[in-house]
Amino acid sequence: MTTQPIDRFLDYKSPEGGCNTGDFVEVPLGPRKVLGVVWGKGEGRFDPSKIRSVSRVLDVPPMGKDMREFLVRSAEYTLTPLSQMVRLATRAPGLFDPPSMRKIFRMGTGTPDRMTPAREKVLAVLEDYGDMSFTLKELADMAGVTSSVVKGLAKQGAVREEDTPRDVPFPLLRHDFSGVALEGDQNGAALELREGVADRAYSTVLLKGVTGSGKTEVYLEAVAECLRLGRQALVLLPEIALTAEFLTRVEKRFGAKPAEWHSGVTMTERRRVWRMVGAGGAELVVGARSALFLPFRDLGLIVVDEEHDTSYKQEEGVLYSARDMAVLRATYCAAEVVLASATPSLETWANAEAGKYKRLDLSSRFGEAQLPEMRAIDMRSEKLASNHWISPTLKAAVQMRVDAGEQALLFINRRGYAPTTLCRACGEQIGCDFCDARMVEHRFQKRLVCHQCGETKPMPIECPSCKVEGKLAPVGPGVERLAEEVNELFPDARVAVLSSDLFSSARALKEQIVSIAQGGADIVIGTQLVAKGHNFPNLTLVGVIDADLGLQGSDLRAAERSFQLMRQVSGRAGRAAKKGTALLQTFQPEHPVIRAILSGEEEQFWRAEAAERMEAGVPPYGRMAGIVLSSTDIQEVFDLGGEMARLDGPLRAIGAQVFGPAPAPIARVRGRHRVRLLVKAPKNVPLQKALTKWIAQFKIPNTLRLSVDIDPQNFF
Ligand code: ADP
Ligand code: ZN
Repeated sequence: MTTQPIDRFLDYKSPEGGCNTGDFVEVPLGPRKVLGVVWGKGEGRFDPSKIRSVSRVLDVPPMGKDMREFLVRSAEYTLTPLSQMVRLATRAPGLFDPPSMRKIFRMGTGTPDRMTPAREKVLAVLEDYGDMSFTLKELADMAGVTSSVVKGLAKQGAVREEDTPRDVPFPLLRHDFSGVALEGDQNGAALELREGVADRAYSTVLLKGVTGSGKTEVYLEAVAECLRLGRQALVLLPEIALTAEFLTRVEKRFGAKPAEWHSGVTMTERRRVWRMVGAGGAELVVGARSALFLPFRDLGLIVVDEEHDTSYKQEEGVLYSARDMAVLRATYCAAEVVLASATPSLETWANAEAGKYKRLDLSSRFGEAQLPEMRAIDMRSEKLASNHWISPTLKAAVQMRVDAGEQALLFINRRGYAPTTLCRACGEQIGCDFCDARMVEHRFQKRLVCHQCGETKPMPIECPSCKVEGKLAPVGPGVERLAEEVNELFPDARVAVLSSDLFSSARALKEQIVSIAQGGADIVIGTQLVAKGHNFPNLTLVGVIDADLGLQGSDLRAAERSFQLMRQVSGRAGRAAKKGTALLQTFQPEHPVIRAILSGEEEQFWRAEAAERMEAGVPPYGRMAGIVLSSTDIQEVFDLGGEMARLDGPLRAIGAQVFGPAPAPIARVRGRHRVRLLVKAPKNVPLQKALTKWIAQFKIPNTLRLSVDIDPQNFF
């Protein structure tokens, strides 16, 4: 199987010296050489004299059987060509290259022609470190000399220059380096997780506990067990900004840093990680969802932290849910999966309820920290000036915290300055030229930005529609506008805004977070970024500006999302010894979701939500698939969409229904029109087979793209 878009096995003769199943190979394809994996013996369907040979076997360990099975199964599940899955599994730079070398320097046997103080310094450093070797820069820096001094010594043999492979193994982790004394139900949970790993059999566990209850401490025990057994472990995090903090924790616990895999890692380092994971030189990988496709030799544990997080769903290219794929991968390599969350997805909650997953609960917060007190602010009875969003009640609460030298967080899940720009002369709302979304004003960048397709343009002076000047006005709040209001209400407070687009890099963001945690701000204003796992010990108040955002949507998961988000955000308050308060501004204090959040009756919320979904026959109690057709020609997409809806025989045969075609949630992206069909099926039917049969009936023009999204996350 190659990584090229050809969805079938190709036959090649084995090269001189032979090759084996699983080998990574370079093969000729037309005029090019491409990457492939040996999938097994050919079936002899072709004339052997016409078959070309494998060019060479690459110098990396072969792909294991469990990985090949996983790729085949995940391709079937997501209805993706196997070649694309193989491509996901070979996304390492420089796979074709021979092992890359670098120069290192150590003590030589020769004597220099003459001694200088600089030369003496270099030799003294090498003397001190005995038999160790260093790169040119390391050695020169340690001796405090220029690199030419080292080179001079090397020329005379007083220093020995050697080549060594660049891709070196990661430092060994020590499972018993240090640990905390677990408390209360942490003990039982850690023991169960350890046993699960020691069983060397597949299992999935939901580890549920409020933020700060010690989930990370507990699952690090499972990692420790995995290391002890000599198997590899993988920890998936939803967000790059969280990795730095996590790496430090791993180092504290196991004495060294693990391998890191995400888009912020350099090409050379990625190449090293890919190779070392395959060669067994990396025991623990911390990374983003694509780390699931690394060539682990012997994977014994996968942790999916914040398993409910929507960023685990890959929404471009191969559409997959990393959480579900983690479970699938684990079944092929006899690994334990730990799904950790304070607010699990309804899917996971239901799987635990049904006994498919084990469930471990950490009931209290570690140490003194307590859950915050939660209250609603009924916006119907608050007096607010126009273009203001902070109610007098919330303002007073913030002022109290600022006066006491504590921190307050104001949460609004909208980036930019204002979500809409309206012309007061003609009523036009400025939209994106390339899709159907409205443009969002980002005053900080002095531009309008489309949050769907990323298109930006300068803020216009005249209305693009009626050409009247000076009548464009912002409508509604975003973080930037809220910051303006905060500065006006609290002129003496130090205000920090946390929104992903305001930072040039993950590191800059991380630095800001650290500075806030150390007390560098009195009031923090943030988007959903702050809802994830950061620890601000002095934060005692969280104000949710618009708790109703997300309640009204027709989205299947709207209630679930608001519930999770708000519990997470309010989990930021009072993580240390001081008790926190969370205030929710809402116009619907009696809405069931708001009530469930306030009362803390989580199980009640899940049960009610589960009952509604069961009634409607939707996930997790039914199955769904989204089909998106896109083309620059609107007629073409609706024609095919209509035909697909009519010829639904293969779907009806399994009791499934088709809805649509309707404009997709984003009806136009980068000039392409998109329509969506939604397939709804009962739970235990062969949905993928039926979809394949259904789609095979149609001739898809080259100008049209069809993509299938199994278990879609974004609806209607
Ligand atoms: P979660 O992952 O559930 O948010 P963490 O594992 O990050 O919780 O724990 C929250 C904080 O409490 C961390 O600083 C952690 O080191 C600390 N902590 C948790 N359990 C213990 C323990 N048994 N002993 C010492 N510190 C602990
Ligand atoms: Zn757009």
